[in-house]
Amino acid sequence: MKADDLKIEELVDFSEGRVSLHGRRLVISDLRSWAQFCRDLLEMVGPDQTRRILTRFGYFWGQADAAAMERIFEWETVQELLKAMVRLQSLQGLAKAVLKELHCDPATGRFEMKLTWHDSGPAGEYLAELGTSEQPTCWILTGYASGYASYCLHEDVYFIEEKCRTRGDRICQAVGRDRESWSDEIKPHLPYFQGDDIQGKIRFLTDELRRKGRELARQRRQLGLPPNEAKIAFVEVRSQAFRQVMDLAARIAPFDSSVLITGETGTGKEVMARYMHRLSRRASGPLLGVNCSALPETLLESELFGHKAGAFTGASQDRVGLFEQAGKGTIFLDEIGDISPGMQMKLLRVLQEREVQRVGESKPRKIDVRVIAATNRDLQRAVAEGKFREDLYFRIRVIEIELPPLRSRTEDILPLARNFVIQFSKKLKLPHLRLDATCVDYLQAYRWPGNVRELENALERAAVLCKDQIIRPEDLPRNILQESTTARPGGGDTQRSLAQVEQEHILAVLESTGGNRSKAAQILEIGAATLWRKLKEIKRPGGKGQ
Ligand SMILES: [Zn+2]
Repeated sequence: MKADDLKIEELVDFSEGRVSLHGRRLVISDLRSWAQFCRDLLEMVGPDQTRRILTRFGYFWGQADAAAMERIFEWETVQELLKAMVRLQSLQGLAKAVLKELHCDPATGRFEMKLTWHDSGPAGEYLAELGTSEQPTCWILTGYASGYASYCLHEDVYFIEEKCRTRGDRICQAVGRDRESWSDEIKPHLPYFQGDDIQGKIRFLTDELRRKGRELARQRRQLGLPPNEAKIAFVEVRSQAFRQVMDLAARIAPFDSSVLITGETGTGKEVMARYMHRLSRRASGPLLGVNCSALPETLLESELFGHKAGAFTGASQDRVGLFEQAGKGTIFLDEIGDISPGMQMKLLRVLQEREVQRVGESKPRKIDVRVIAATNRDLQRAVAEGKFREDLYFRIRVIEIELPPLRSRTEDILPLARNFVIQFSKKLKLPHLRLDATCVDYLQAYRWPGNVRELENALERAAVLCKDQIIRPEDLPRNILQESTTARPGGGDTQRSLAQVEQEHILAVLESTGGNRSKAAQILEIGAATLWRKLKEIKRPGGKGQ
């Protein structure tokens, strides 16, 4: 029997429900579904395992075909049996396979075969489904040839593709040799022909990971560090200024010293407090915060220190204050600069004695908390002016962390903005929400008087207003666009009238306070009535001076 005599219609027997090649059952399958399977594999197990799986699939197929050929026909020579492989690849529609060279010496076992595949089916479908590839991808074909030849020669033969259409070559071309004839060149390819115990690997790695986790936890316990540092996630920080601050915070976090966080409104003082708490030895305890300016003195006192039932009107039950609740944790006192002189004294006593008395009780109770305070006021000036107790100031300000305003770290604006967009995408259920690149210049040119919080508010507003889930410059608040435009080179910061500058500043401040007029008036240091009058003038067409 000669390879050229093989005819597909004689080999394959078609009857309904069963297609067979001399008794071996076949199916006619669609190549595109292989390519889709290949895409799935690439996504699920990565390129190496995909190549391995498809190579081995081809290998088993080639092996089975070789066994069938050997069993069915009497072959004149082993060379003819090998040539039949080329013929079978063509007949089965894998590619138009053409034999280029065949050297085979059964006496020495040396073997070399070169063949080309024109219009390779696997390559064509791969290109259609996945596009070009840096590596050859006709793994089924090389696997098939390797399996077939290995069966015929009773030794390991490996085919490798030297050219492939998915890599941009005109045709695919492969060479096969026995293990000995290949030099070390074949070594990196061998694993793809061999099975892999993936389940075993996963089991091993899972065990290893658990062991490392236990080891790490043990070491952290020995060092007295909190257990969950790895879980702290930040937005990417690019600016030198903020990186230095984070660095300082991380260094002092493990110690129990009181920390005062200062910085303009909206710079993220509470976020910083949380960051330090998580890095501290108290991380497994609670972090409890209170905004001191939000509560009148009596309420703040009972909030912080607790009270006994009946201590004052409305105190119907005993209440445990935050200082006690935060036991072994951290208490965060925001806006500390706003507390009354009476409250300053009480707080000082608590911090000195490390014990609290609930309102209406005389029994002192020990506390074990770390205090982190924050303010946007100039406390040093308040001390000089006699508005804030100096002894309390020194007690809370053992270490001071000053958060830089957003305008002095413009490199961080874009990562922050992107992070907010991701958050709003989830919160507002807008899965395709994104920030158009044209917004970047505006965001970076604006001065952000309300800092990170203003950025957050501006983007939330834009996320709600934007069309097609794309935030474009026109969706940003008006004052951001105005300031950015005028601040641009050539735009002429010097070409604006005093009235214009004033109007824009008023609007910017109002935006930063979220529209709160009394806060805006405070920042601008003008009366509420003056602000009202100025806003009225802005709203009149043509603005002031008409
Ligand atoms: Zn190829």
